[in-house]
Amino acid sequence: MTYRLKKGDTVLVLSGKDKGKKNKIIKVLRAEDRYVVEGTNMVKKHQRPSQKFQGGIIDMPVALQGSKLALVCPRCSKPTRVGFSTPEGGEKVRSCKKCNEIIDKV
Ligand SMILES: [Zn+2]
Repeated sequence: MTYRLKKGDTVLVLSGKDKGKKNKIIKVLRAEDRYVVEGTNMVKKHQRPSQKFQGGIIDMPVALQGSKLALVCPRCSKPTRVGFSTPEGGEKVRSCKKCNEIIDKV
């Protein structure tokens, strides 16, 4: 099984209230194909007081569906679909469908 997106990727939000935002994936929920993207899909949560935190309302990013996200290619800086290929004798890589550049190893 290979995955299109991973932690540290910059993604573009394709739908929802944060449509058009570009930010980094900070957490991946593989089983659900959901991704927490920094500063997007924020919801207010009530937090109980703890030793470190006095309690109150905090903003938390909530995971977005993978289908709502497009990878922003680090080579051409465009939102793109991710392709997979295996160079002869090499390891499987992710590549950009727009510029055809290799992004990284899977
Ligand atoms: Zn590209």
